[in-house]
Amino acid sequence: MRIKGDKTTNPEVKSTYELKFASPVAEGKPAPEVIIDFGQAAKICGLGTAGLHGKIITPDFGTFLRFVFIITDAPLECDKPFEGEMCDGCGECIKACPGNAISKDGTDSWQCSVYYRGAHKSNPFMKDDFLKDNPEHEAILNGEKRFDSESAKEIYPSLRFLPETHFGYVPCLCGKKCEIVCTKHIMQKYSRKGEKQ
Ligand code: SF4
Ligand code: SF4
Repeated sequence: MRIKGDKTTNPEVKSTYELKFASPVAEGKPAPEVIIDFGQAAKICGLGTAGLHGKIITPDFGTFLRFVFIITDAPLECDKPFEGEMCDGCGECIKACPGNAISKDGTDSWQCSVYYRGAHKSNPFMKDDFLKDNPEHEAILNGEKRFDSESAKEIYPSLRFLPETHFGYVPCLCGKKCEIVCTKHIMQKYSRKGEKQ
């Protein structure tokens, strides 16, 4: 997520996104003007670890989770945090991504942002004349073109296959294939109790 006007990260969110109205709860307290990195926080809290696709993988549910946080100094009893490494480098997510956004070094988030928005020909909402005048038409539709922050932002306006939400999140039109194959792989490896089968 963006922090204090930094426009260089998080390609999923509109460039106008800011925490404009953050104010301290009491004099002398810091303003809540930063956003938690949910993935890092989930990992630190011992819920799982990040895979090559960048998502937190948990033994019980793979990657299909939403994390919700309450920050408190209340004395709480904790259970044992997950220890170990969930991603075994199987490479299923690398093969599954239609936009070739994942490699053994991790995920290229700009590349992902373009194909998440449906630039690959497998997008069921794509019409036959999509990008027909673009000289790189074929490479883009096949997931072969490499995008960086500039070229990704340039192509976003062509990728409005469905309406965006009012807070700027765009619909996922890649089918989240990276997470589906990963979760299948993890479910085969671990039982629902988080124990190796
Ligand atoms: S699919 Fe395999 S390589 Fe990819 S994140 Fe999951 S466990 Fe790691
Ligand atoms: S499958 Fe979709 S969400 Fe996963 S890395 Fe590729 S484009 Fe991004």
